[in-house]
Amino acid sequence: MRYSALALLRGALSAHRNWVPAWRSPQPKSAYDVVIVGGGGHGLAAAYYLAKNHGIRNVAVLERGWLGGGNTGRNTTVVRSNYLYPESARLYDFSLRLYEGLSRELNFNMMLSQRGHILLAHSRHDLESLSRWANAMHMNGIEAELLTREQVGERVPALDLSSGARFPVLGGFMQRRAGTARHDAVAWGYARAADALGVDILQNCEVTGFETGAGGRVVAVHTGRGRIAAGRVGIAVAGHSSVLAKLAGFRLPVRSYALQAMVTEPLKPCLDKVVISPGTGAYVSQSDKGEIVIGGGLDLFPSYAQRGSFAVLQSVLAATLEMFPCFSRLRLLRQWAGIVDVVYDSSPIIGPTPVPELYINCGWGTGGFKAIPVGGWTLAHVLATGRNHELAEPFQLSRFVSGRLIDEAAASGIAH
Ligand SMILES: Cc1cc2nc3c(=O)[nH]c(=O)nc-3n(C[C@H](O)[C@H](O)[C@H](O)COP(=O)(O)OP(=O)(O)OC[C@H]3O[C@@H](n4cnc5c(N)ncnc54)[C@H](O)[C@@H]3O)c2cc1C
Repeated sequence: MRYSALALLRGALSAHRNWVPAWRSPQPKSAYDVVIVGGGGHGLAAAYYLAKNHGIRNVAVLERGWLGGGNTGRNTTVVRSNYLYPESARLYDFSLRLYEGLSRELNFNMMLSQRGHILLAHSRHDLESLSRWANAMHMNGIEAELLTREQVGERVPALDLSSGARFPVLGGFMQRRAGTARHDAVAWGYARAADALGVDILQNCEVTGFETGAGGRVVAVHTGRGRIAAGRVGIAVAGHSSVLAKLAGFRLPVRSYALQAMVTEPLKPCLDKVVISPGTGAYVSQSDKGEIVIGGGLDLFPSYAQRGSFAVLQSVLAATLEMFPCFSRLRLLRQWAGIVDVVYDSSPIIGPTPVPELYINCGWGTGGFKAIPVGGWTLAHVLATGRNHELAEPFQLSRFVSGRLIDEAAASGIAH
């Protein structure tokens, strides 16, 4: 069923009885050409691109809970491609370009809002780093605009620019094409389009083990709904990547941490940019519903508890209110956390694992929502061909053997 204004009108005239479920709930088959573990954005996008780009449709996505119930449905929805190193810039800008055409391609409104993303400089040192960063982006062919203090003020009037501010703003830099997209829509849009191409999406189907055959290659997965044979298997489970790797018999350089976010009660439009202050570790935007969406850095200790600690919550809110005192009377509506997969060099891992025919996509840490299209695209490519896509080549697990790390966090000074 195509979604359109006409379909809406038809729905309205038939008391909305004509809608069909966006995807099927099939019973698991005993075997698939490809099985993808994890029904978050990356797993679903990989299934869609396997079917669309490579014509491989005998595919299952196995999700232990509900679609998008992991980090894909818990993030603060920021999409951008303002990275420093050429490898990352290429990867994330490809993703942003896919996002730009995604609503049309999937016939599902992603609510992509390219409202601009501003990074704040609070010191001379910050200004120097931002210029270096903007120059690197220009060299990589990605637009970036340095802003004076006044230009920041024009774009973000709610910000405290007074000389007495605890974190004075000296300037900033902006990527205009960056912004936000609706996170649930990304999961649902890919799921619906993959299902339409024949992919089986199996929810409440936890993978509990891997079975290997001749030469140690993976031949099946064991799940809460029985054994499922597979020609190839892809893992895209974010914060649970180490758990799955252990089940498959190898280790990953990944640590799992809680990352939290929160929203206030809704208010009239007052902030039409995404604003991030790397110095204080807080970032803010306003959702389409009017809520102020607030995010910050990681909890400082590894954890699988999807809660988030009070200490980080308190420091993120304190930093936000120092910058936006006008938000101080707002009540918080919700606070939550997701478990993110952080790699030592703060870059993702895409490609083969030590187990033949088992491939992985992980390590996106605090920033993998923006990468869902490219993460799916490149995982699909390696699952279909057995070779990494050129965009993913620098991000293989083997870089921890060769030492060719891509340390974005150290380079840009931003926590992932
Ligand atoms: C609070 C917060 C804010 C964030 N903000 C941003 C942001 O603004 N911009 C940005 O780009 N990124 C952001 N991120 C990061 C981003 O959300 C993630 O990197 C991205 O969603 C990862 O997608 P995924 O598909 O890999 O993982 P997930 O969406 O977590 O999906 C993995 C799925 O695997 C399933 N699973 C786990 N184990 C098993 C198993 N054994 N069997 C079957 N299924 C299993 C899980 O249930 C889950 O649904 C944020 C994250 C958080 C938590």
